[in-house]
Amino acid sequence: MADQKHLHSTLLDLDSRGYKAYLDIKGSYQFPEFTLIVDHVQGDPFASPSKLRVKIPQSVARFPQELYQSPTRSIALRDYLTREFDAAAKEISSFRGTGKSGLISIANTGQEVLERTATVINDHYLEVRFLVGLPARGRRILGRQAAEMLVVDIPDIVNSALKYPNLNGKKVKKHVETVEDAHWLRQQLPERGLVAFIANDSILPRSSGVDPTPLIKDAVPFQAPESMSVEFNCPHGGLIKGMGIPTGITLIVGGGYHGKSTLLRAMELGVYNRIPGDGREFVVTNPAAVKIRAEDGRSIAGVNISPFINQLPQNRSTTKFSTPNASGSTSMAANIIEALEAGAELLLVDEDTAATNFMIRDQPMQQLIAKDKEPITPFIDKVKQLYADYGVSTILVMGGSGDYFEVADTVIAMENFQPHNVTEKAQAIAAKHLNERIGEGGEEFGDITPRIPLGESIDPSRGRRAVKLKVRDVSEVAFGEEDIDLAAVEQIVDPAQLRSIASAIVYAKEKYLNRRRTIPEILMAIMTDIEEKGLDILTEFPQGNLAIFRHFELAAALNRLRTLKVQ
Ligand code: ADP
Ligand code: MG
Repeated sequence: MADQKHLHSTLLDLDSRGYKAYLDIKGSYQFPEFTLIVDHVQGDPFASPSKLRVKIPQSVARFPQELYQSPTRSIALRDYLTREFDAAAKEISSFRGTGKSGLISIANTGQEVLERTATVINDHYLEVRFLVGLPARGRRILGRQAAEMLVVDIPDIVNSALKYPNLNGKKVKKHVETVEDAHWLRQQLPERGLVAFIANDSILPRSSGVDPTPLIKDAVPFQAPESMSVEFNCPHGGLIKGMGIPTGITLIVGGGYHGKSTLLRAMELGVYNRIPGDGREFVVTNPAAVKIRAEDGRSIAGVNISPFINQLPQNRSTTKFSTPNASGSTSMAANIIEALEAGAELLLVDEDTAATNFMIRDQPMQQLIAKDKEPITPFIDKVKQLYADYGVSTILVMGGSGDYFEVADTVIAMENFQPHNVTEKAQAIAAKHLNERIGEGGEEFGDITPRIPLGESIDPSRGRRAVKLKVRDVSEVAFGEEDIDLAAVEQIVDPAQLRSIASAIVYAKEKYLNRRRTIPEILMAIMTDIEEKGLDILTEFPQGNLAIFRHFELAAALNRLRTLKVQ
């Protein structure tokens, strides 16, 4: 293997040559303390940056085994290191020429702690994958600057961010233990009969609609009502108290602007672990929780929405319902059935983003419009059957209609951003109005029919390229010639997840779409492969820009691919 000196002199020799000559540096270099690997060299200074790795033996990195010995700890430690690398790179790297010249960067991180391909750790080494904008003036290589970056700056970053003795041991420990406690709490939910837990003193509101960091000024800390208070003894943090939301049907009511949606949003994202200081570290939700909303305009491929919709005009099938342009109510029905198909155990619905005619059909309306003139069986008439038949719970924000009191097991009122248990009061009111509204949902929820997707309806190619995927942001990915719109899939938190999801669809097509496997079987097969072999199975060579996703969001992307057809 060439050494660092060799790389240094090669880079100086490349000075002022054409950009393509950078290809010469592809390969591995032995530095005194680590190996530097150049996997991919960009084509010009404006192209996506070059992909590099450092591999640091544990004799140098010196991470105590206990910090990475369980999968959860390893994810948390590696998340911490990604953030440290990011901070060091931001400090050191500077603009050094044209386009992306001078850039040193790693995967972006947000409030969540996700399994990522940016780092690998084991008893032998720590590997970190990052991007470098190889410097040029115009298309002429800046060799001296490149040498500075690769031979001076990168060892500096390794030194300050990737060696345990140089890190703040207390902060590392806190990061790992916070994540492990949250993970542990989430695992305790089923045996306590809960679907969600919100710790006291959590800060739920965010800085702004575009800034997910916690609101600092005037934030009211969360306080559980006595009658819903539960406590846990966490492995690291000790006693922790808060509000437990039981399985069944839970209604969140309260005046406008009193914090209902903020509470629901915290629970939606409670399927993920968060960084210390987020304010929602100990808000945990059943990992199979799926946010449901209306999404008119989406496409639907052969979904059995008949539990909710029947007798559409023109005799359209609702047991295999397809459309390129769903309405508010049919999109909500499909979103629910697709979530159930994928194995959801908890549905989260907010009136702010729901279709009213899907949620309720009140008593005056039942009098005016006969049941046989209304294709929709509203959610209120199926929500109990869903829990009884399939054990699927629902948490619903509904400030505008009391009809749901009758079907709710728990009613929480938000008042000045604080929860109150008003279950008894609401049930007493419901009892007075019993039998005014006619139940329209029947005894049973109805069948959930797993679909078999057709491989030929999924085409990731574009032009001469067999696979062309491009993630724009958390809400859109170009898949071959198609754009998949995921703006309504609110539990995707990082574009890196979408990158993995798009690759996983290609992987599924190649490996599992055989005209026999159903969507849930395919989802299970992919997630098992990733769990056993890692996210690297989704890419040709190791890349640092993938993050883990849930199979629900993978299903959501597949379901929104407009070309999708099912058997
Ligand atoms: P609702 O859904 O009841 O209408 P929201 O959840 O949308 O209310 O909250 C309204 C506003 O109050 C938002 O700007 C939100 O950030 C803020 N907010 C929510 N919870 C809190 C809290 N605990 N402390 C301070 N502000 C909050
Ligand atoms: Mg709201």
